[in-house]
Amino acid sequence: MIEAFYKAKSKAGVIMSAKLLEGKVFAAKLREEAGKRAEAIRAKYGVNPGLAVIIVGENPASQVYVRNKHKACTELGFYSEGIEMSENTTREELLAEIDRLNKDEKIHGILVQLPLPKALQPYESEVLEAIDPLKDVDGFHPVNVGRMATGQQSLLPCTPHGCIRMLELADIPMDGANAVVIGRSNIVGKPMMHLLLSRNATVTICHSHTKNLAEITRQADIIVAAVGKPKFVTADMVKPGAAVIDVGINRIAPKKLVGDVDFDAVKEVAGAITPVPGGVGLLTIAMLMQNTVAAAEMQLADK
Ligand code: NAD
Repeated sequence: MIEAFYKAKSKAGVIMSAKLLEGKVFAAKLREEAGKRAEAIRAKYGVNPGLAVIIVGENPASQVYVRNKHKACTELGFYSEGIEMSENTTREELLAEIDRLNKDEKIHGILVQLPLPKALQPYESEVLEAIDPLKDVDGFHPVNVGRMATGQQSLLPCTPHGCIRMLELADIPMDGANAVVIGRSNIVGKPMMHLLLSRNATVTICHSHTKNLAEITRQADIIVAAVGKPKFVTADMVKPGAAVIDVGINRIAPKKLVGDVDFDAVKEVAGAITPVPGGVGLLTIAMLMQNTVAAAEMQLADK
């Protein structure tokens, strides 16, 4: 079945233009799912899912992300708190704020926007671990990472989980597929590996020390690129018909974003491909909404 799918996409060496996996289509579906589950929570418990986002300092990119998160909450009728803390916030003040939110029954999800200002960066792990794992909607707490790695129910990191949901919704087979993840970060590459494995893919994870990268990626039915290097994945690295998921967001000029994949060339080889912008990036916030709902469901079921 899987062989047939990918062969059909490559048609005996005749290269077809790829199916475009547009983020907005999948994000709308994922938001709709979150909205329905939120409705069920309101009906059953009379409670509205609530998300708190803490932002420390004045990183302009982070401010845009936080505004978009708030907007997504408002659109779904969630309770939403944006907590802006000054650049000079101390470790103790930040931990106290997290503690307050851990205890606040209106809040089901807590997210600390990264990166933290320089002075707080040595405490990043401590800060993320201070969040109640049941409210950890980023899925970065070691309890959630461990639960994911051992196949138990947990809050999953939004970006890789969004990629998996997109592959599912696009009917791209993962069971038995050769999947190659390029990048081994804790927020994208490693969780992507676990989630693909949970869907029965045969997963290879590549990184900056990998030898013969192109030889490995040419075996892949699914490539996930999370490298952070503009146009890093070129057409000669891609097997005809493969699905290519581009997680990268690279600003190459003030108003120009590109992914980790050389989109124009690779789209002529791939069976399916995500654009940048307009691809995976749009799924992340939709998955954050899903995690807020999942967190609320878990907390309310415990009562
Ligand atoms: P990172 O810098 O933490 O990790 C990059 C990885 O790429 C590393 O594991 C490294 O080993 C690997 N790498 C570097 N050079 C390589 C090479 N020559 N060959 C093979 N592997 C190599 O980055 P990250 O946080 O995982 O993010 C990756 C990209 O995804 C970035 O562009 C980031 O902006 C983007 N991103 C997007 C979203 C989203 O919502 N779409 C979310 C998170 C990250």
